[in-house]
Amino acid sequence: MPLHLDNNDIAIIKSLLKDGRKSFRQISRETGITTPTVKARFERLVNIGFIKGVLPVFDFGKVNNTDDVIQLQNINKVKTKKEKKYFDKNAHNNLLKEVDKIKEQITNGLAIDLECDYCHGPVLGKPRVLKFADFERFFCCNSCKRDYSEKYKGRIESIKRMYEGKSETES
Ligand SMILES: [Zn+2]
Repeated sequence: MPLHLDNNDIAIIKSLLKDGRKSFRQISRETGITTPTVKARFERLVNIGFIKGVLPVFDFGKVNNTDDVIQLQNINKVKTKKEKKYFDKNAHNNLLKEVDKIKEQITNGLAIDLECDYCHGPVLGKPRVLKFADFERFFCCNSCKRDYSEKYKGRIESIKRMYEGKSETES
């Protein structure tokens, strides 16, 4: 069963598309969604693998002409050595077009396929969710959830301890 994005998810994503460096508090002020909810939703979008990263957007118009042959590879490790390509003026425009396309596609109810965090198979039914600290993990069945909890017991416990320590010092 896919995860359906709701209005909160969409508002947060749209806000981040304008500026990916915004703090959770800034997004909260802008959208009217509480800061803890912004944080939880952002982390969930990362956990399910929909937000893969937040990248800087470059203005290649600022590149000095004498140095304008920049290896795209050095800026964004998209190309392998074999495909080594040099930066062309259109790359920046294409990137912005890509972002516009993404903005159009981000709509309420967008369904995100979930992958089991243990067996990596598709989550077809209602996902079994394991929550600890800021994390959420999704599983296809109870046995995957149990096996994951067993396998990463130590790591989960230490994350919980760190998280509790952090929230104590914050309050
Ligand atoms: Zn599974």
